[in-house]
Amino acid sequence: MVLQGGCLCGAIRYQTTDMPFDANHCHCNQCRKSTGAVVMFNTEQVTWLQGVVTEFASSAHIRRGFCQQCGTTMTYRHVDYPQYCTLSIASLDDPNKVQPTYHIYTNEQVSWLNINDTCQRFNTNKSSA
Ligand SMILES: [Zn+2]
Ligand SMILES: [Zn+2]
Repeated sequence: MVLQGGCLCGAIRYQTTDMPFDANHCHCNQCRKSTGAVVMFNTEQVTWLQGVVTEFASSAHIRRGFCQQCGTTMTYRHVDYPQYCTLSIASLDDPNKVQPTYHIYTNEQVSWLNINDTCQRFNTNKSSA
């Protein structure tokens, strides 16, 4: 076990067998309301210990998972890439263990937000730079 996490009420718990291969902060209009910063794993690196994530189709290909009991955002999933499991960084028990390494969709970032980290910033998705 490398990392553990869960929702606010504790109904959903997971653990990972590895560190995430990627971590980023998405500022797009949808992630702002739903997720924010995320950590990305290969699906087989994440074990769900208890509880079931309820999924919402935020667009044709994107599913956003949450706890039905407390509403905590848990997952982000692209239906065309079942090999990846993206988790909300805030759902980790110790989010300090993983730091986002870049920002995406900064053209949709809220105007009052000042982030003075040294991470790379992309106006839209990562390939836009
Ligand atoms: Zn919960
Ligand atoms: Zn986004």
